[in-house]
Amino acid sequence: MNKVQDAVVDMYEQLPVPYGLVRFGVAPDHPEVKNCQDTFEEAAKSPRFNYIGNVSVGHDVELVKMKPHYDAILFSYGASEDKKLGIPGEELAGVYSAREFVGWYNGLPQFQHLAPELAVGNEAVVIGQGNVALDVARILLTPVDKLRHTDMTEQALQTLSQSKIDHVKVVGRRGPLQVAFSVKEVRELMQIDDVAFHTIPSLTSINPKTLPRIQKRITEVLQKGSKSQSQKTRRSWGLEFFKAPQSMHASDSTHLSSVTFTNQAFAPDADPLSTSASVVPTSEMTTMPASVAFRSVGYKSVAIPGLSELGVPFDTKLGIIPNDPYGRVMAPSAGPGSLTAGHIPGLYCAGWVKRGPTGVIASTMTDAFTSADAIVEDWETGVSFLNSRQGENASTGLGWDGVRSEVEGKGVRPLNWEDWKTIDAKEKGKGERIGKTREKFASVEEMLKALDR
Ligand SMILES: Cc1cc2nc3c(=O)[nH]c(=O)nc-3n(C[C@H](O)[C@H](O)[C@H](O)COP(=O)(O)OP(=O)(O)OC[C@H]3O[C@@H](n4cnc5c(N)ncnc54)[C@H](O)[C@@H]3O)c2cc1C
Repeated sequence: MNKVQDAVVDMYEQLPVPYGLVRFGVAPDHPEVKNCQDTFEEAAKSPRFNYIGNVSVGHDVELVKMKPHYDAILFSYGASEDKKLGIPGEELAGVYSAREFVGWYNGLPQFQHLAPELAVGNEAVVIGQGNVALDVARILLTPVDKLRHTDMTEQALQTLSQSKIDHVKVVGRRGPLQVAFSVKEVRELMQIDDVAFHTIPSLTSINPKTLPRIQKRITEVLQKGSKSQSQKTRRSWGLEFFKAPQSMHASDSTHLSSVTFTNQAFAPDADPLSTSASVVPTSEMTTMPASVAFRSVGYKSVAIPGLSELGVPFDTKLGIIPNDPYGRVMAPSAGPGSLTAGHIPGLYCAGWVKRGPTGVIASTMTDAFTSADAIVEDWETGVSFLNSRQGENASTGLGWDGVRSEVEGKGVRPLNWEDWKTIDAKEKGKGERIGKTREKFASVEEMLKALDR
């Protein structure tokens, strides 16, 4: 909007409330991370920005019906699914995806009925060694009183206060130098009051000074360990390396009781110091007792309905919309070469659906700026857009005004930014009354009802 003076931007969001994973993914005890919402607030002040909440693109309005009214459509709808392990027992009670657990404690309407069974036993296994896995471990181990002032839902606080989980194992397929989590996240776990870290004997022989910067810092934190010692605490956690999940088992045929892993070793040609070192299975197995397990092996984007009608190919293997690195959506025929070769006019993407489900907010924002710059550059250089004919722009130019009747005709109630601010104020008010930053509405119905009271 800043770079094209008369550009109008309509932002569609399937939920009544904005912010995606910043609201429903980022951990409640990391409020400072959510400051990026201020950037949204700034953009929303512009009269040329329209927030259209509670409208699911592809469901509440077909993409082909939107197309005539816009010059460009940018897809940045994130990653709404997660990768499965594909092992026997994965469907047992007590096995959750990190995505649903995180969504549950953050108030994502879709997962408010999850009711994770945290009081069945005291051992939890988290499969995966990225930052989301450490978020799950930290939330399980943090004394619940430390979370009460955050915007974690009351329902989640109640369940966590009755949790019997005392030991969490965070398990990865590769070694300590191949972990995907960051130093800040692991350091935080080491600092939790009365939670001990089980030291890793194999790490003591590594000289961190010989390692690249990030691995060096992580190794130093792991070697230093936790501020609490395991003999003195009830709660503890540990990292388990070189273990690939093989099967999950139940003691009573329905509820998880253990997870079996195939032990792994570095491949013969692998460099153990490389972050991309590959591993191969050995003939040995390890079984860990667990009353709950969380798979945290990555989120996954899927195609929204109607993409193919616009000629958009979805790469189901990578879980992305194929694009040049600048966010221009590429047609299947596109080969390597000039920037706009194969670009489907007027279609762009950004965020996790562009790059795959990796990267923090800062990198996602930088990448979104790149996509926005590509639109500006194309606009300024006269490249074809969605409805261009012979260089003429033939879009109706109506934007949301052209789409609204379609949406409302389906009985959907679209929300604008003012509506969101009303919900926001009510959530903050509810939170304030019980000493929290916010108490989120747990369902779409409650969010909409809040507008009528
Ligand atoms: C558990 C977790 C914790 C994280 N913690 C941190 C952290 O502490 N620090 C950090 O920097 N980064 C963190 N990240 C990463 C950060 O959240 C992402 O980099 C960023 O949110 C990705 O942005 P996105 O726009 O691609 O996707 P999202 O944030 O998921 O936004 C996509 C939006 O599209 C909407 N949508 C989906 N489908 C449709 C549709 N059909 N129609 C309309 N709207 C639709 C969704 O509702 C959502 O609001 C975390 C990620 C996760 C999963």
